[in-house]
Amino acid sequence: MVSSLWVTEKHKNTSLSFKVKNILFKERSKYQLVEIFETYDWGKVLMLDGLMMVTEKDEFFYHETIVHVPLSIQPKAKKVLVIGGGDGGTVRELVKYPTVEKIDLVEIDEMVVEASKKFLPSISSNLDNERVSIKFEDAAEFIKKVKPEEYDLIIADSSDPEGFAACLIETEFYEDIKKALSEDGLFIAQSGSPITQKDELRTTWKNLNSVFSYCKVAWSLTPTYPGSWWSFVIAGKKDINNLQHSIHTPPGCRFWKPELLPALLSFPSSIEKVLN
Ligand code: SAM
Repeated sequence: MVSSLWVTEKHKNTSLSFKVKNILFKERSKYQLVEIFETYDWGKVLMLDGLMMVTEKDEFFYHETIVHVPLSIQPKAKKVLVIGGGDGGTVRELVKYPTVEKIDLVEIDEMVVEASKKFLPSISSNLDNERVSIKFEDAAEFIKKVKPEEYDLIIADSSDPEGFAACLIETEFYEDIKKALSEDGLFIAQSGSPITQKDELRTTWKNLNSVFSYCKVAWSLTPTYPGSWWSFVIAGKKDINNLQHSIHTPPGCRFWKPELLPALLSFPSSIEKVLN
């Protein structure tokens, strides 16, 4: 039992520390250092190259937002592609919809999936669902092989755009996403903290607007992400405002409810200027 160990996530100019009970997993894959800690206040925590990805205590804010917001706007989505998402939280929320027939997850690092399955069952529980197929490869390569209009919803649940994730914010990648998306389809990308990662949000917004006719920013609470506030950019070929919104409440949500939709799509004016 380790009592005085602390682990610190260091973003550029902001850090967050967790007091650790146990180190459950620590190995370097060919892509990154994969660590899972058991902490006093946040349950088990997955970190990649020292950056916090998910905690058991608050991951549902992020995963429920990145899935239920687009599926409320486009409830007819049947075939879904998840980019990254190796911890399984996004997939867990997607399988709540019987109308979703096929979920492809493209995760570059098999070690993330294996470690999450072993140590984070409350998050990774549905990675073995019969509707889910996992491909261990670079999403930037995978998307080039996808048939046109193959998916109705594409979710980029990838790490911050650095290193092997840097390509996932580029216009070329978004052009490939657009080709793979059906006419009424939607794309949603996590776009970082509107407080400490303004450049990531601005670049995602600018690049998506240069490829898609309709883009919208959504936000959510994320207590253990920098600034406890996160952004997402939603893009479509058709006017997102005109798609019928569903009031379906999936089972077992701890944050999401349909009444939240207009609020999560209304970006606070103090942040609006980040987009220009
Ligand atoms: N919710 C987290 C966030 O907002 O930072 C993301 C969690 S998920 C664990 C991020 C995953 O994206 C990682 O497992 C990482 O290996 C994967 N990833 C990064 N770049 C990738 C790429 N080019 N292709 C496929 N997966 C990638």
